[in-house]
Amino acid sequence: MRSITTLDLQYAHRFYGFKGEAQYLHGHTGVLTIEVEDTVEPGVNMVFPCNEIQKTAWEVLKNFDHALILREDDPLLPAILGVYEAQGIKDGTPMNKMKGPAFKTELATAYPDCRLVVTKETMTVEGMIKIVYDLLKDKLNIAKLTFTSGVNAACQEYETTRTLDRCPLCGIALNENGVCPKCGYKK
Ligand SMILES: [Zn+2]
Ligand SMILES: [Zn+2]
Repeated sequence: MRSITTLDLQYAHRFYGFKGEAQYLHGHTGVLTIEVEDTVEPGVNMVFPCNEIQKTAWEVLKNFDHALILREDDPLLPAILGVYEAQGIKDGTPMNKMKGPAFKTELATAYPDCRLVVTKETMTVEGMIKIVYDLLKDKLNIAKLTFTSGVNAACQEYETTRTLDRCPLCGIALNENGVCPKCGYKK
């Protein structure tokens, strides 16, 4: 069965080199739907608690929220970094608190201090699904991702092959020692 949850991401981007309005910088509220597949854990009668899926995903994805997402070859990138630098905000400010850990994958690099994500490919809804799967595939049994942004939407299904050991008391994944990181239950 599947547990399904959604989360919102507000971001600015553009499609560099695209022949259409989207080549201009603009913003969206994107909605990501994550479907996690596993057996139903009988203790809690859930596949996975949805708030825990959100928490796991948000820890990484908050780097995209209120962020600017630009392709690595976009000439706006050095221009914007130059302005941030001149303003003294490139390496962060005390008010920039909603930061996840910086990450670098083959498809995207997050610079949380200046709320910037640099991508290898244009950040379309399809591109975002590839980036998100890469970031979360080891943390969650993702069966499907859907991302919508304005009138654009895309989805991708994935085959899930493993079953995670989950806590019968709170439903979250047990750590490598078979202990629940939340309530201390031991298998
Ligand atoms: Zn757009
Ligand atoms: Zn527990």
